[in-house]
Amino acid sequence: MPLKKISNKMPLNKNTRQILFWIITFLLFITLYHNFKNLETVKQIPYSEFKQKLKSKKIIKVVVSPNLIKGEMQDSGMDVKFRTLPLPDSKLIEDMEASGIKSFSGEPDRSWVISLLLNVGWIFLFIFLWWFLFLRQSQMGGKGAMSFGRSRAKEQDLKKQKITFKDVAGCDETKEELSDIVDYLKNPKKYKQLGGVLPKGMLLFGPPGTGKTLLARAVAGEAQVPFYTSSGSEFVEMFVGVGASRVRDLFEKAKKNAPAIIFVDELDAVGRRRFAGIGGGHDEREQTLNQLLVELDGFEGNENVILIGATNRPDVLDPALLRPGRFDRRINVPAPDIMGREEILKVHAKKIKLSPDIDLGIIARRTPGFVGADLANIINESAIFAARKNKKFVEMEDIEESIERVIAGPQRKTRIISEKERKVIAFHEAGHALIAKLLPHTDPVHKISIVPRGPALGYTLQLPVEDKYLTTKSEIINKLSILLGGRAAEEIVFDEITTGAQDDLSKVTNYAQKMVLEFGMSEKIGLITLRKDESEVFLGRDIAKQPGYSNEMAKNVDDEIKRIVSECYVKAKEMLTDERHLLNSLAEKLLEKEILESDEIDLIVNGNAAA
Ligand code: ADP
Ligand code: ZN
Repeated sequence: MPLKKISNKMPLNKNTRQILFWIITFLLFITLYHNFKNLETVKQIPYSEFKQKLKSKKIIKVVVSPNLIKGEMQDSGMDVKFRTLPLPDSKLIEDMEASGIKSFSGEPDRSWVISLLLNVGWIFLFIFLWWFLFLRQSQMGGKGAMSFGRSRAKEQDLKKQKITFKDVAGCDETKEELSDIVDYLKNPKKYKQLGGVLPKGMLLFGPPGTGKTLLARAVAGEAQVPFYTSSGSEFVEMFVGVGASRVRDLFEKAKKNAPAIIFVDELDAVGRRRFAGIGGGHDEREQTLNQLLVELDGFEGNENVILIGATNRPDVLDPALLRPGRFDRRINVPAPDIMGREEILKVHAKKIKLSPDIDLGIIARRTPGFVGADLANIINESAIFAARKNKKFVEMEDIEESIERVIAGPQRKTRIISEKERKVIAFHEAGHALIAKLLPHTDPVHKISIVPRGPALGYTLQLPVEDKYLTTKSEIINKLSILLGGRAAEEIVFDEITTGAQDDLSKVTNYAQKMVLEFGMSEKIGLITLRKDESEVFLGRDIAKQPGYSNEMAKNVDDEIKRIVSECYVKAKEMLTDERHLLNSLAEKLLEKEILESDEIDLIVNGNAAA
């Protein structure tokens, strides 16, 4: 939740603290200044000198207290302050009267408490100052020194926990997967009776803004249990041990109020693979991670605490976190497809006044690649635009304006795809899928999607019917044609090619190399294995560097790889040109629905073919 985080982590609190800091510094300087001034100008004199000055009428003012006499006197023509330690002197008052001092008075001695405070006060002041300086660096936005090692998890009040699955749209499968957790939290007895064990930790992964936090919150709302939220980055503090103690505290709190849900956003901030990355281990993070693992292993199902983690980088998580009994259930929260986007828009549109003629379906179609947070943002912005124009309802033009704003906005992390690019992607994926459907000995096409996911702009998912341990030559050849089908479709339809096929091409190269170098599937090269080690050989010419292979052999290998690939490409192009109408209908349907399941694909390919 990148947008919300900033405001969460730096509450008003920080400003107040800064102001306080400066006030205290100011006071400190004033006090210091006064003290030094006093030290400088108050003249310490012996009692004898005081008595002499008294006699010579040089004393102007005297304040007497049991342990000190201070006042003002004339000294070489100037008025100066003096102080002196009094001696037992019964004639002091008489002498002062005789001297004609206009003002003399007494003052009670400072009690030892006050003196102590005055002296020790300095120490306190310094500690205070240090405390502010120290806190400013180490825990921006914390609640104060007292809660330093405590978890800053915010516990949402049960009554306030109104978010339910209704508020999360467009991810029905995810909700389904989470619903048994809700059921478990509601009646744990039912499950315990049967001896069932539910996962203690669940990991929601997906791009930012797809509603992971919202889902976790909704689980708590549905089950009516307390919800503790915190973020991985909060655990990674400057000081070793603080994060770990926060984790401990967080679990303690949750257990006390069980059944409860603990939500840890940005789990990758603590859960990163250990010993990975530049600089090696990060002590603090590692301690925190270890504590998290200890806590996860520690509660035994009967605690009724469920930990939900969220990350958009499941790939960098430490494998220890994903082991059984820890975050062993992983749930994908993908970017929404066109239908999902419409559902999300509907949820958020309820909060504003929309002009009745607005079709949210059209907006959903205009926003490929947008995630829930973007869509919520669009609706909100459009209401602001409309209000600025003093309208009674939000109209289409306001929404258009805010879509443009979001597209241009700097905060977007997810990808926005133009209409033209979307078309290219649709034909590319349709190309893969159609060849897979038309060729024999291929895995069935399970799904085609043009909803961007991670670095991929679209994907065609083929699932094998059964596990296979041997692959035939024609199967590999067909696989190459399928992989090249994307690029072929682009060339046929747009007469131009894009960079989108890069991943396909690297796979193609890899397969073709293996055919020649490892599988002995090239007649020209013959039944030999040329590759010694996965890491050693990448291209034919590399073979020449190894002893025992000639330059000619290297050239033959390269030629063979090239021949196989170009034959497959030609074949793919021919097939797609012949079945251009199928390619068109597949791509069009994809543009309309963004995700096609196997039965829909069958209907287009086989339905049309039969006719
Ligand atoms: P994440 O945690 O995945 O980064 P959030 O849960 O913080 O995303 O989502 C941010 C906001 O976006 C939510 O508060 C909500 O308003 C909106 N949002 C995201 N996904 C959805 C969804 N599926 N349905 C409704 N609103 C959503
Ligand atoms: Zn492709």
